[in-house]
Amino acid sequence: YRDFHLQPIAGEWREGGSERRTTVTNPYDGSVLLDIRLADRSDLDAAFLAAEKAQAEWAATPPAERSALLQRVVEIFDARKEEIIDWLIREAGSTRLKANVEWGAARGITQEAASMPGRVHGMTLASNVPGKENRVYRKPLGVVGVISPWNFPLHLSQRSIAPALALGNAVVVKPASDTPVTGGLLLAKIFEEAGLPAGLLSVVVGAGSEIGDAFVEHRVPRLISFTGSTQVGRGIGRIASGGEHIKKVSLELGGNSPFVVLDDADLDQAVNAAAMGKFLHQGQICMAINRIIVDESRYDAFVERFVEKVKGLRVGDPDEMETVVGPIINARQREGLEEKIATARREGASVLLEGEIQGQLVPPHVFGDVTPDMEISREEIFGPLVGIQKARDEAHALELANGTEYGLSSAVFSGDLARGLRFAQGIKAGMTHVNDMPVNDEAHVPFGGEKNSGLGRFNGDWAIEEFTTDQWISVQHSPRPYPF
Ligand code: NAP
Repeated sequence: YRDFHLQPIAGEWREGGSERRTTVTNPYDGSVLLDIRLADRSDLDAAFLAAEKAQAEWAATPPAERSALLQRVVEIFDARKEEIIDWLIREAGSTRLKANVEWGAARGITQEAASMPGRVHGMTLASNVPGKENRVYRKPLGVVGVISPWNFPLHLSQRSIAPALALGNAVVVKPASDTPVTGGLLLAKIFEEAGLPAGLLSVVVGAGSEIGDAFVEHRVPRLISFTGSTQVGRGIGRIASGGEHIKKVSLELGGNSPFVVLDDADLDQAVNAAAMGKFLHQGQICMAINRIIVDESRYDAFVERFVEKVKGLRVGDPDEMETVVGPIINARQREGLEEKIATARREGASVLLEGEIQGQLVPPHVFGDVTPDMEISREEIFGPLVGIQKARDEAHALELANGTEYGLSSAVFSGDLARGLRFAQGIKAGMTHVNDMPVNDEAHVPFGGEKNSGLGRFNGDWAIEEFTTDQWISVQHSPRPYPF
């Protein structure tokens, strides 16, 4: 899979209809990977109409056939592992470690999706009407529109595409402009190789600011499955649920994960988890640690060990095995991080670790004496910077942890598991990990956020719920005695 200048739209690989083109570059060395002519609104229309047409027959395909197709996709993931990992490194600036993690996550959700067709079930319910039987059928939604971000493009597109197709839907994907290959085109090739019928999976490459509204407003999709920023998600939610064609929307949005270290925590474990949970993929993960909150009695010891650990993380070429911190995805994101560093200093955070920014490489920055009102605490960082705050006691730590508009993931370290669990139950978030980092995802366990981190859940039974709908069909077995 080398050449990706065409897009799979309505069953054929073709050039986009727009006059405009885009180049996709390697974030590490700036080399040009691809030049694509963008899709326009007529491409969107063609993709959605072809999906609508192909979906009816696909929904009627026996579950075992849909399962077998997903299973073949898993086999292609295995056979083409090195190629997939290579694209994740070159296009998304993934380190080898992160690319392997992402390949595994995308493979895992495909394997999980392969089991879904046989797990869909309806129910029968008693009726208050004599002679009536109530049935509830679970059916595919129809066509699902997927919009995904650039940070884990392969996995975050696939966690919508694979369950949606397995459950009898058709899909149209709009990948992020930075990652059209790993966020869509590569997956379309894999599904095609696995034998997916034409028209069921289209990929339209275009800027969200240009074709986004038309994508979300379109009559055909019954669900918009969006993963990205809270700001863009808000607008999508408004259009999807309040526009001319009302549809379901699932929103997997930004995060501001707290990482809490209580006074009885195992500090070595906590330091290792904090380093991984902060710096994997340069901190560009929705679940990445955004705030470290440490009981004041352990603050100095934690800071000393954490800074020592982070100093040893290698920054550089993502293709090299030992690199932990690779490049930031694009210049705009890097500039935003430079501003965040300047603001943290201006607001009075103490600099515990810093380094020189070279090209797209931003070395880890660690700030101490951080307070909840500082920007570095309030806003999602999405980069290799972190601030450490002091908590007076457990109650204060919980108050700090919950003091955010977001509620995606979170973590707490304690030597007492009952205490850790009690603390976790007090956190207002979709996901909390006791004695582990907040970056966790398993294909059969519910993934999603509370508050401004979004709506809906991915994975396992929750994906079956998300990508299907219920129809109540009643059957009147004996004539009903109407009053007139
Ligand atoms: P983003 O700017 O919101 O973009 C996400 C996707 O939305 C891209 O495909 C983008 O296209 C598209 N888009 C932009 N404007 C649009 C519009 N008006 N209508 C429709 N689509 C539009 O987010 P990002 O910078 O790529 O990703 C980082 C954010 O995603 C972070 O906030 C992170 O926390 C969040 N995230 C959340 C999760 C989760 O599971 N909760 C997972 C990963 C990331 P273009 O690329 O063409 O602009």
